[in-house]
Amino acid sequence: MRILWTIVATALAGCQTVQTTQPGAVGVERQQSMLLSSKEVNQSAAQAYDQVLAAADKKGQVNQDPVLLERVRRVSKRLIPQTGVFRADAPGWDWEVNLISSKELNAWVMPGGKIAFYTGLIERLKLTDDEIAAIMGHEIAHALREHGRERASQAMAQGIALSIIGAVAGVSRSGMDLTQLVLNVTLNLPNSREHETEADRIGVELAARAGYDPRAAVAVWEKMAGAADGQPPQILSTHPAPATRIADLKVYAARVMPLYEQARPRS
Ligand SMILES: [Zn+2]
Repeated sequence: MRILWTIVATALAGCQTVQTTQPGAVGVERQQSMLLSSKEVNQSAAQAYDQVLAAADKKGQVNQDPVLLERVRRVSKRLIPQTGVFRADAPGWDWEVNLISSKELNAWVMPGGKIAFYTGLIERLKLTDDEIAAIMGHEIAHALREHGRERASQAMAQGIALSIIGAVAGVSRSGMDLTQLVLNVTLNLPNSREHETEADRIGVELAARAGYDPRAAVAVWEKMAGAADGQPPQILSTHPAPATRIADLKVYAARVMPLYEQARPRS
């Protein structure tokens, strides 16, 4: 038994509690437990992102539509400078935004700011720039809050716990393939409701500060719900929609309207 507790203690010794972001006007404040460092997670995410893009590129699906690509990148270029409100270092991150040609209603972000937008999401839902900004802001917020790192840390802790229950000796952090883990938390495993709510709230603030109408977030999730036609949108499998999402977005969009009024271009 003592050996098992030694393993647990060793595994959890690397665990640290962090506050990844400043609260902003929307007041997101929650301490997070991290077993993995930003550095190791972001390195694995960069590899995972390259893998996904290389596979899509083989099928001729990457950045094939220059008009849509220009639109999503233009939106991201207005949003990213606003991230400094939540994290001073974030505007200088190595952000990437790429467009995947697919009918899927999907978009995701990997740790460190590696974003993918699917053409199906923009075309099938006929997204306006404000609505693209709503989704982009939400994805950027996941990256700022390091939700991927938090989820990978949780998966790692569970893996270690399972190994210990199975009395497997010699458990080490390197025993799990972190790149696969990042792929899995990004593409397959659902975010918690807590993560979704945080990303929604920070997302509307980023959009408002960049001069995009924050109320578009309400419209976009309503469109998403209406687009189900038998098969739920892919994005909902990793970004589950809490029943209270629309109501919460209305409240927080209203709260950041003054920021939008200040920022929006006058005609
Ligand atoms: Zn999400």
